[in-house]
Amino acid sequence: MSVVVAASPSGVRLAQLPPLALYVHIPWCVKKCPYCDFNSHQARGDVPERAYVEALVADLEFALPDVWGRRVHSVFFGGGTPSLFSADAIEALISAFPGPSRRKNSAATAKPA
Ligand code: SF4
Repeated sequence: MSVVVAASPSGVRLAQLPPLALYVHIPWCVKKCPYCDFNSHQARGDVPERAYVEALVADLEFALPDVWGRRVHSVFFGGGTPSLFSADAIEALISAFPGPSRRKNSAATAKPA
């Protein structure tokens, strides 16, 4: 039996890297609930979805060298209320994910906050 040792970007050595998952935070809500400790904020007017998607894509591209070659097993949209973003904005974001199979076997589930 052989043990594969992989080094994480932080330098921690693991027997095997865990499945790679992507979390996308959309921080706006219709209003801020008084009991909520999430990083969420009341949307005042239109949410700046285009600028935010551009910032998320830039952040993704910055992080890619640390995970290059690894398969993304899941993508979770949280918030906030991700459904405040238009389908076009979510499509623009998903289209930025690398990989030839990003649209295969995909299913979207919206969970209200
Ligand atoms: S994340 Fe959910 S609980 Fe928190 S303010 Fe938004 S809607 Fe309310």
